[in-house]
Amino acid sequence: MKSTQILKKYFGYDSFRKGQDELIDSIMSGQDVLGIMPTGAGKSICYQVPALMMDGITLVISPLISLMQDQVRALNEAGVHAAYINSSLSQTQITKALQNAANGQYKIIYVAPERLETSMFQDFVMNSEISMVTVDEAHCISQWGQDFRPSYLNIVKLIENLPKRPVVSAFTATATENVKEDIICVLGLKNVKVSVTGFDRENLYFEVKEIKKKDEEILKYIEEYKNESGIIYCATRKNVEAVSELLKSHGISVARYHAGMSNEERKANQDAFIYDEKPVIVATNAFGMGIDKSDVRYVIHYNMPQSMENYYQEAGRAGRDGAKSDCILLYSPQDVMINKFLIENKEVRADMTEEDMAAVLERDEWRLRKMSYYCTTKECLRQFILKYFGENSMCACGNCSNCLSEYKETDVTDICKNIINCISELRGRFGINVIAGILRGEKKSKLLSYGFDKLSYYGMESSVSERKLKQIINEMVMREFLHKTDDRYSVITLAAKSRLLLNGEERFIIKVNEEQEKTINTRKQRTSDVLNSKGFELFDRLRELRLTLAKKEGMPPYIVCSDKTLADMCVKQPFTKEEMLNVNGIGENKFNKYGNEFINAVKEFTEGKKQVLSYESLEEHPDNSITNSTKSPKKKEFELTPEMAQKVIYSSECQLTKLAAQLNELRDENVMKKTSGAAIQRKLVAESYISEQVYGRYSKYTVLEKGEQMGIQVRTMVSERGTKYDVILLYENAQREIVDKLLNEWKP
Ligand code: ADP
Ligand code: ZN
Repeated sequence: MKSTQILKKYFGYDSFRKGQDELIDSIMSGQDVLGIMPTGAGKSICYQVPALMMDGITLVISPLISLMQDQVRALNEAGVHAAYINSSLSQTQITKALQNAANGQYKIIYVAPERLETSMFQDFVMNSEISMVTVDEAHCISQWGQDFRPSYLNIVKLIENLPKRPVVSAFTATATENVKEDIICVLGLKNVKVSVTGFDRENLYFEVKEIKKKDEEILKYIEEYKNESGIIYCATRKNVEAVSELLKSHGISVARYHAGMSNEERKANQDAFIYDEKPVIVATNAFGMGIDKSDVRYVIHYNMPQSMENYYQEAGRAGRDGAKSDCILLYSPQDVMINKFLIENKEVRADMTEEDMAAVLERDEWRLRKMSYYCTTKECLRQFILKYFGENSMCACGNCSNCLSEYKETDVTDICKNIINCISELRGRFGINVIAGILRGEKKSKLLSYGFDKLSYYGMESSVSERKLKQIINEMVMREFLHKTDDRYSVITLAAKSRLLLNGEERFIIKVNEEQEKTINTRKQRTSDVLNSKGFELFDRLRELRLTLAKKEGMPPYIVCSDKTLADMCVKQPFTKEEMLNVNGIGENKFNKYGNEFINAVKEFTEGKKQVLSYESLEEHPDNSITNSTKSPKKKEFELTPEMAQKVIYSSECQLTKLAAQLNELRDENVMKKTSGAAIQRKLVAESYISEQVYGRYSKYTVLEKGEQMGIQVRTMVSERGTKYDVILLYENAQREIVDKLLNEWKP
């Protein structure tokens, strides 16, 4: 059977996602592979499909017991014979499982790394045909990673000792260069095919909300999405207790989870959430490892987490099934202080030297700063995230709270000048509150006792609101026109770039939200939102049926089928087996188990006649028309027209970013989005004019032969802060060729 047929038959999907088929083809041709894919991208399919196509057995090494159990359950549901071997089984159960395995009962066996060395397991592998060894969460083998597990080194021995070397496939969501190289090297991957899937999760909507009344906000949100599954993350145990009490007192069925609870209680609460008995769970970041629940529709952060790494991992637990979901972060400046405290008071690890600890602290503070920039930026949130993880994205996403907000751009250079002068008058010894207070001419006793009311800049910006003034100062820090010390005093000092504003070489533009305090959400579309009200009734009916079926089988509902599958059933209203197999996510085995019950439910609801239960297309969706009428019409992608191209001014040498800026100037900004140097750069990389290598935060560019002929040069620079960055320079010929390509080949 072909791989696409297997995908349809067992998993019920019509096509592979980006990157999946490529990896599968490589595996089938006997190549080792390393798949770097973000959570929810669909790693499992990449080894499960080839496992079914190969003759022997596939061993999957995975560190998380709950994940293993989930996967095996899902496989058995799909009609694939699979088993797991880990410490949750008794010795007798392990013996039995290995006997079955030796008799060829299973195609896929999940095993915990600690089990590899046991003699019973060794006995089994030496006498069986192992076609592939799959290493899940492969970053655990790297000492660079945060989750290094010494037991992962057993995998190397296993592979070496097998009578015939199997294909080795490794998967991880960690993309840093060090970790990647470690995995390849330590596992000894041969002729390896590395595939990196983009980190973007298109189905997730990102929102940051700076508000004081977080409780009200959460209640309102949960009221609106009552039946949906969601996680609320809090920074501390105390917050977890408070928020879960709050929700309970409003009649919301909620579970809670933090490290201060007993193991039993945690397990019970986690299960209540997974089995849909309680739709909402309030938790600290202790919750989530190994949680595979695919239909989490929202993740709300009650507090800002400590790093973007943490945030993206936690938020990423929403929408693993690919259906639309929300990631909302409720931010208050106080969160920064809480996190600073948590970082500074982290448990001291015995094996770390003072130097190591200082380095860790510095790293954590850097991460925290970036996290707070995420919370205050007015630019596209998705772009911010992707950039942080080393991906350049072309343009604003149109699906985050910043993209959907109406901002007005204002030039605040003059205010910046006063801020800079005020700081130099203070000789850079005070923080944001004092600076803002002085400029606004506040009469607080702290200011007066220092005699700040005598300063020449006292009261110079008395008409600007405190909020706006602080926004400007924070953005100046973010864009490196000011510097903020990392110690707990957060003193603001001048930076080398401050001068540029003072002498008018650069202007400072900020975006101001016209309706700052607007709390109404732009309603985002959910998968089920394509249904009209009657369609939604059927959706609810099918959800109930799913819950009944799941209870009968003792399985979480999402293993029976996903929300997306249910919504598709409402749209397609299958009455026959053939029609049911057409529904997204229904394979043959699923059909045999549940197909008829769902068909009957659909028939009963529709009385045997297909009805219009969905809006025919998204364009007709009523929410869309609301958004369209209140929001400015969506701009089209940047497209260079011949008229614009004629006006381009070429020079003998020019930076790529400057060329992009010039092109942006030529467009009609009311109808067209911007392009960027990064966007063009990506094209140049994709077409092998230049190559890109990412070293942590530094991307190194090399001009390839084609690029040299075109007239591209790369210059490595060092910023004032000491970070390296590469600048791409274009000779005139390269400028002309890029414009030509934008006109012809690179049209959107
Ligand atoms: P990961 O391990 O990368 O976090 P999973 O393997 O758990 O992700 O897959 C996430 C979800 O995406 C699962 O519900 C899975 O069934 C679904 N999925 C995977 N591949 C496809 C595909 N080709 N088409 C539709 N859904 C898919
Ligand atoms: Zn956006």
